Amino acid sequence: MRRPASAACCSTSLLLDIAPHLVRPLAFLFPVYRGARVPPWELRAGMWLYDLLAAFRNVRTHRWLHRKAVLRLEPGLREKELRGAALYYDAQTDDARLVIATMRSAARAGALVASYAEATNLIKPDGRICGATVRDQLTRQPHTVRALVVVNAAGPWVDEVRRLDDARAEPLLRRTKGTHVVVPRHRLGNSYAVTLTSPIDGRVMFVLPWGDQSYIGTTDTDQGGAPDDVRATGDDVVYLLRSANAFFPQARLAPGDVVSTWAGLRPLLAPAHSGAASEVSREHRVVDSPSGLITIAGGKLTTFRVMAQDVVDRAADRLHELDGRPRAPRPRTDRLALPGGEAADLEVLVEAARARGASETTARHLVASYGSESAGVLNLADRDRPLGQPIVLGRPEIWAEATYAVEREMALRLTDVLMRRLHLFHEDRHQASGAAPRVAERMAELLGWDGARAAEELEAYGQEVERSRAFLQEVARAGRP
Ligand SMILES: Cc1cc2nc3c(=O)[nH]c(=O)nc-3n(C[C@H](O)[C@H](O)[C@H](O)COP(=O)(O)OP(=O)(O)OC[C@H]3O[C@@H](n4cnc5c(N)ncnc54)[C@H](O)[C@@H]3O)c2cc1C
Repeated sequence: MRRPASAACCSTSLLLDIAPHLVRPLAFLFPVYRGARVPPWELRAGMWLYDLLAAFRNVRTHRWLHRKAVLRLEPGLREKELRGAALYYDAQTDDARLVIATMRSAARAGALVASYAEATNLIKPDGRICGATVRDQLTRQPHTVRALVVVNAAGPWVDEVRRLDDARAEPLLRRTKGTHVVVPRHRLGNSYAVTLTSPIDGRVMFVLPWGDQSYIGTTDTDQGGAPDDVRATGDDVVYLLRSANAFFPQARLAPGDVVSTWAGLRPLLAPAHSGAASEVSREHRVVDSPSGLITIAGGKLTTFRVMAQDVVDRAADRLHELDGRPRAPRPRTDRLALPGGEAADLEVLVEAARARGASETTARHLVASYGSESAGVLNLADRDRPLGQPIVLGRPEIWAEATYAVEREMALRLTDVLMRRLHLFHEDRHQASGAAPRVAERMAELLGWDGARAAEELEAYGQEVERSRAFLQEVARAGRP
């Protein structure tokens, strides 16, 4: 999914360089109304601080806009009591594709990468961890992986993995749930990303453009239970729609307008004292257990490179202590483009895709998803013309992408392609249900599935679609927000 990622952070400006197709500058409007919880002077001071912290290296520095200028840019915003807005710049990313690009980059550098591989047990014959039992979630087969150093980077699940090491390990996290809802963009009519403070509880949230859709998020509520099945609730949907309606009164969004939802857990470090979920620190920590497990906990997507550096340094120190090997110099990954991130000028790529016969929207979509690798996707369509056709009529995604997802992007399941590589589940009102059987057929050819496996995949995807529809219908039945 797409996230705002603070450009005030040097990690973000670096990501804008090494993955310009996936991490993109985005203009935000932060409107201020009479009687707002954040008065204009405070917002202005905050904006200066924001630019200052980034040493004025933000995408652009902020500007203050008066009421009329705000309404010219974003006519759907509530006029009544509007005083002005801060126009500032941040970045937006496609987090699923950023993770895949990072893993592919690691694989190119020699890492062995395995998805659907769950650590179910840690091996410690003499009290020191020297590997793990890993279950292949697709075949259910267990495997033993031996290692001198074992790192636990399981995000919201780090405490569960720590308990494999020590059943009484203190929890490191306070997990909070965040939900987004996707609605048709024409209902809000927003062309900018809009930052707003919810009139319900004063929390800051965003309305962000996403192709033909906009997404509204996020909530921030404590989540005590198991992290495996985290979903949006009716209350989350109503809270988000009500908050957006207060700023875009013409939109009159109701649960029946929601195209899809998604929810996730923030793996935040547990604070010493209790407080509001949104006030919990976004810092990270590297923790060693007595048996040698190295855990990285907390942090944010924006800071993932700093987190990785800290944990790799710790692992290098451990290897040095174990057998005296020299610490390798840090590789210059800050200068290494992620796959697809080589091109500096994305417009040149869009033009190249157009010149090869892609429509404007498909060309833009391909470049935003694959960067310089969009040429590789179009090569597939050159070799087999039907692969240049849209997967869902009227949408920009083409059949070549399903092939590309399997051949180059490690997709192993139908949900990988339709939810995590192409996002059709979240962006298409019908969740690409009509195309799903043909995508499964294509994957069966590429991955050698038999009929039973293809049917299982379709069934699993169909269940996700059904669950989402049933939930949205139930919320819609409960009434307008
Ligand atoms: C709604 C929401 C909005 C957010 N917005 C922002 C934002 O705007 N900016 C920002 O910077 N950050 C944001 N974040 C935070 C950011 O997304 C997370 O901090 C980040 O994704 C965590 O990455 P991670 O690799 O630590 O965990 P994850 O991405 O969750 O990865 C952990 C992985 O470990 C795997 N795993 C778990 N248990 C095991 C096991 N036993 N064996 C093997 N693998 C296992 C999981 O399957 C998973 O793939 C947001 C988070 C949420 C939920």
